[in-house]
Amino acid sequence: MWQPDESNECSRRMSHTLLLFDIDGTLILSGGAGLRALNKTFHELFQVQDAFTGITTAGRTDGEIIDEALRKSQITSTEAVLVEIQRRYEGRFTEEIQLPGPRKGIMPGVEDLLKFLSVRRNVTLGLLTGNFQSTAKIKLDYFGLSHYFLCGAYGSDALHRNALVDIAKQRAKLLGIEILSARDILIVGDTPLDVACARAAGSKMAAVATGQFDVVALEKAGAEIALEDLRDRQPFLELLEEP
Ligand SMILES: [Mg+2]
Repeated sequence: MWQPDESNECSRRMSHTLLLFDIDGTLILSGGAGLRALNKTFHELFQVQDAFTGITTAGRTDGEIIDEALRKSQITSTEAVLVEIQRRYEGRFTEEIQLPGPRKGIMPGVEDLLKFLSVRRNVTLGLLTGNFQSTAKIKLDYFGLSHYFLCGAYGSDALHRNALVDIAKQRAKLLGIEILSARDILIVGDTPLDVACARAAGSKMAAVATGQFDVVALEKAGAEIALEDLRDRQPFLELLEEP
């Protein structure tokens, strides 16, 4: 069983790890609330039925997903249109998250791991998610997980996931947490796009097969470690401690 090495506390304090968790399929599943809310939004605003059916969502930012739906529905994307979509989507999502849905819940091992990590001095917990910041908050508030995360980068910060690592680093810096090396960031996600994001940043990567992709697919994508779920804590902590 892994135990923290207190005798090495001084050297561990020298490096600080920023852990960046994806939300959907990694921390929680909202039981299809996002897709239902997006479809309702497009139906109400543009009278388009099932606008998001067939659009890939896993690992993509909300902005990318909405862009594709707008193109598919032949609706011109303007700043005003995007603001209205986001506003309406937040409202619909707040309603939909209350409803039951398939596999809705916190993923196995997540709460125990967050509790364990949140009291470690050489770790900061953050988010790296394609969700808009507003809907990320609604989701994590609903499941009672918001208080674990001190900073984050969101789909409302950039259109492409890979741009979010630097933004998360800047947000951590505002809290006084200086990340000196790319390997002092550990990204946790459930899709090949999370893996690609970590590889582009040169950071550590732990993939979890609690979303749409199994361990084999995540390993094939290049994940440093791929776990069935976050109950499998030891390889995760070994990766965290690795220089
Ligand atoms: Mg995900």
